[in-house]
Amino acid sequence: MSFNLQTPIDYLKGVGPNRADLLRKELGIHTYQDLINLFPNRYIDRTQYYKTNQLQRHSADVQVIGKITGFKEVAQKRGKRLVATFQDDVGTMELVWFRGQKWIRENLKLNKPYVAFGKTNWFSGKFNMAHPDLEPLEDHKKNLSSGMYPIYPSTEKLSNKGISNRVVSKIMQQLFLDSKGKFTETLSENLCDKLQLISKKEALLNVHFPKNQTLLSKAQFRLKFEELFYIQLQLILKNRIHKSKIKGYPFEKVGHYFNTFFKDHLPFELTNAQKRVLKEIRHDLGSNAQMNRLLQGDVGSGKTIVALMSMLIALDNGFQACLMAPTEILSVQHYNGLHKLCNELNISIKILTGSTKTLERRKIHEALENGDLQILIGTHALLEDKVKFKNLGLAIIDEQHRFGVAQRSKLWRKNMSPPHVLVMTATPIPRTLAMSVYGDLDISIIDELPPGRKSIKTVHRYDKNRLNVFKFIRDEISKGRQIYIVYPLIQESEKMDYKDLMDGYESISRDFPLPDYQISIVHGKMKPADKDYEMQRFIKGETQIMVATTVIEVGVNVPNASVMIIESAERFGLSQLHQLRGRVGRGAEQSYCILMTGHKLSNDSKTRLETMVSTNDGFEIAEVDLRLRGPGDIMGTQQSGVLNLKIADIIRDSDILQNARYYAKEILNHDPALSKPENSAFLNTYRQLSKFKNIWNYIS
Ligand code: ADP
Ligand code: MG
Repeated sequence: MSFNLQTPIDYLKGVGPNRADLLRKELGIHTYQDLINLFPNRYIDRTQYYKTNQLQRHSADVQVIGKITGFKEVAQKRGKRLVATFQDDVGTMELVWFRGQKWIRENLKLNKPYVAFGKTNWFSGKFNMAHPDLEPLEDHKKNLSSGMYPIYPSTEKLSNKGISNRVVSKIMQQLFLDSKGKFTETLSENLCDKLQLISKKEALLNVHFPKNQTLLSKAQFRLKFEELFYIQLQLILKNRIHKSKIKGYPFEKVGHYFNTFFKDHLPFELTNAQKRVLKEIRHDLGSNAQMNRLLQGDVGSGKTIVALMSMLIALDNGFQACLMAPTEILSVQHYNGLHKLCNELNISIKILTGSTKTLERRKIHEALENGDLQILIGTHALLEDKVKFKNLGLAIIDEQHRFGVAQRSKLWRKNMSPPHVLVMTATPIPRTLAMSVYGDLDISIIDELPPGRKSIKTVHRYDKNRLNVFKFIRDEISKGRQIYIVYPLIQESEKMDYKDLMDGYESISRDFPLPDYQISIVHGKMKPADKDYEMQRFIKGETQIMVATTVIEVGVNVPNASVMIIESAERFGLSQLHQLRGRVGRGAEQSYCILMTGHKLSNDSKTRLETMVSTNDGFEIAEVDLRLRGPGDIMGTQQSGVLNLKIADIIRDSDILQNARYYAKEILNHDPALSKPENSAFLNTYRQLSKFKNIWNYIS
């Protein structure tokens, strides 16, 4: 039988059905290929052996050669622990198991030399090693592995069931023996030469059984490069196929609407960043391909005007446009911001949300279908089946992180040919991450705020300083400013959060009593109409304080509001804090953000608060966020698994990523179909990857 990497793991000697099942469930290892791509997390120097009298109280992993001379069971609070006496020629220590005791007793032999490997602890006058990795000395000597001992990813269940690191390492050896090192090269000779990459075969061998540190580093580099290279190759190809296959409506001209707006209605001069981004969008709209663009811009960077002007181009070419926002409040705000202007330009515009009345709804449906309605603003309601555009040319989605990918595509499946799509987000995604996740979208970035913005002053205050904070609020209100006070609302503890909010509201009402002070309150449990009413009172300046949950997080624009107080700020994520802070600093006045917390703070919370206090830069904040949470979390559940990287690290290896992207592009530029003989390794690997998507499921 020839060696095939797609062979199910069950067939490997030493695995068997039970272990195969565990490997599948715990580590997602189905095939030989999966196993070979299980890369060690770290390596340990195993050239050194310790004697039982050389152990240190705070020692790292050590290995000791000795024999088990006896077992005993010790009762403890819950269950019992199994303790073995481990003896070498100078003394003894104990080996301890809290779980998996049956397996241990059945499988370990007394008075036989073993190498015990693990972390030692000092417990009631003795050294012990809990759940050691034990290997018969005989095997240990025969072992293929060098001084660098690989430590593989594992789970509690695996170690409980006796699949220790040593076992994994052993089946890995078996795989290498079976394969006789026949691993197909996956990168072209050309590229390997150019970048001085070692061969696939050598890299795999040295990542699992490193001969020395130098070869290990080379192996890791080569495998990281390969991993990132193929992600990029796939994303770029996807993007190109998309562009060539999916025809868009070419918006050839910029006409009356756009020009009139530009000449007579533009309320301010566009920033250079806005101009650049508009140019990128116009270029896309004018081409034959469907636009699929992500517009990133920090809160307050002025994305709305870009959205509007893009819609005007669609209208100039006889098409309809829509703008979808994640909440009713935001939709209303967009609508209010745009409808006056649209009236002046003689553009028909409507808003459609969950609370639109049936009659109005019917009118909208009709006007959409016969083309009378040119711009539709709204919420998810736009995705309903009844909403049928006559000729939707451009769909804009604001605050992208609230919508899933599936929802987005729903919008353009309704049409015969998909409209151009512009997705706007104020959650800056670090470039490296954007590149690997959104490699198939084009990205525009507004990296400049409109002129004259005063940077927001941010401070962190403990709850016990609340009186000072209230005094500050009073002073600001007396200067004519408005205040936001925001409470957390996190799904799992919704009831408690709601209570916190209401308690907070009551206490604020006491400290800021009628008739001197008017307070608005907005939260998720209110009817949309009530929410809107409260919101409008605040927007019109009839109330000075807005008590709210995070419903006001995105997009709300009240320039006169200059103080943002965030309660229990330690419970918010960084990007959320940044979004909330972005609600102030929109007018001419100096704005403030006050982060209120209790005294007990985790390290992560401290880092988040310090980051907020020290910077206003959304991209900088996003980098810290990425570090704290990892990429999976940031992209949200609908895309988890997208960055299921086996060996590369999106942050630490961002240089390799950029390099990989560069070469992937260059290769595709010279050979778009990868059909040249020298690129056959790329084509074969690419095909292989697409075929076994379950293995490389980077792309959602
Ligand atoms: P966001 O990117 O957060 O959606 P908005 O589009 O709501 O930001 O813009 C924030 C504020 O900045 C708005 O009041 C808008 O009118 C104003 N603005 C946008 N662009 C400019 C500009 N070039 N010059 C001055 N003010 C601007
Ligand atoms: Mg906005």
